[in-house]
Amino acid sequence: MQSKLVLSLFGWWTGALSLLQALPVHSLPAQPKTASASTSQKKYSVATRRIAAKNPSFPVKKLGNAACTKAVARQSMGNRWIPLRPVSGFSPFSKTSMKGKVPLVLHQKKGMTMLADGPRYTLLSHFAKQNGLKYVCKGTQVQLSNEKHRLVFTVGTKETILNGVKVFLSFPVDLQQASVSGFRKIVRRLQWIAPEYRIRTVDAQYVVKPILSSQGLRQKIVKRIVIDPGHGGKADGTVQNGLKEKTLTLRTARLLAEKLRRMRYLVELTRTTDIDVSLTQRSYFANVRHADLFVSIHYNSAPSQKACGIETYTYPIEGTPPTDRMQVLPKDQTVADINRFNAQNAQLAWSVQKQIVSIVKPIDRGVKRMYLGVLKDLKRPGILIECGFLSNPNEAKACMHSAYQEKLTRAIAEGIHAYSR
Ligand SMILES: [Zn+2]
Repeated sequence: MQSKLVLSLFGWWTGALSLLQALPVHSLPAQPKTASASTSQKKYSVATRRIAAKNPSFPVKKLGNAACTKAVARQSMGNRWIPLRPVSGFSPFSKTSMKGKVPLVLHQKKGMTMLADGPRYTLLSHFAKQNGLKYVCKGTQVQLSNEKHRLVFTVGTKETILNGVKVFLSFPVDLQQASVSGFRKIVRRLQWIAPEYRIRTVDAQYVVKPILSSQGLRQKIVKRIVIDPGHGGKADGTVQNGLKEKTLTLRTARLLAEKLRRMRYLVELTRTTDIDVSLTQRSYFANVRHADLFVSIHYNSAPSQKACGIETYTYPIEGTPPTDRMQVLPKDQTVADINRFNAQNAQLAWSVQKQIVSIVKPIDRGVKRMYLGVLKDLKRPGILIECGFLSNPNEAKACMHSAYQEKLTRAIAEGIHAYSR
């Protein structure tokens, strides 16, 4: 009699448990402390160690908290509470479900980690509504605007114009492949419903949003700035049209430092003479000097003499490919130190490129992202500016000119100043 009761109770309990697991993550109540919970944690930590081994920069403890909170799946992000999702194909209850995948970390802040399962999208129409922008769609172009902002997206490309500056998203704008069924599908076919265009949520959050407002960004008090004149010593950089990149970067950096000092910033250079400095030494210097931001100065070159213009680089957001590539490779999931400042990087790069475009008036090659060794280990926001093509005879001549240097450094300094306000 008693054992029957125990059995039926057990049946009820496992039934309730499976029901709980079927519920969406954020509606789950706190996980009951049972024997199975402790074994699952044990299994989980094996998987965690495996992930950590693949990805040394990944904080094991944080992942542990995140994945084990399937029950308490909410984490704070800025001021908002967002449901935390476990990584796809990964369950804390299974040893082998990771299948060698490295989870995508969307946000890390004060010990909080948000993980995503698969790509997430933001409809441009929703984004417009959320940010008080008017949504206009003409052919393949989507324009979001109000009296302060004007954002232009082109379907099928990463290239956007955000408040007058070319900025590349991590992924192209695309048409929502929504599983609209039945009636809505017919309605759409009849074109009663306009097509819905979307961008990746990481782009909305870390590329577009920071340009609209600095709300939600951590305090951007900028006092100390480290300027990094590219190359030096044995590393000449590009040598074209009788010009050595290392010489010109040092000249630009000195001039920029002078301007920023006049604006009352504390400025230090990673090199002040023609010496070898390794990439890691440069970011290490900015870290130990407690710089608030890092700006690396370079000059460009290309096989074609026609290539010209200025572009500003920052580091790719974790889980996204660099600008010159479309597909996501496993290495794109690796989190670098600088990824803590995704939003700040976007804002700084945009701000500097904007001033360059309006003061120097070059061909705007845009804000791009690339895996740059000099930025990777930064524990503060950082950008790299390609200040012109030395491989283009006309541009090389212009770059040497003191008027160009003057305008260029004024633009960079004002861009930094606009960012830090
Ligand atoms: Zn260079």
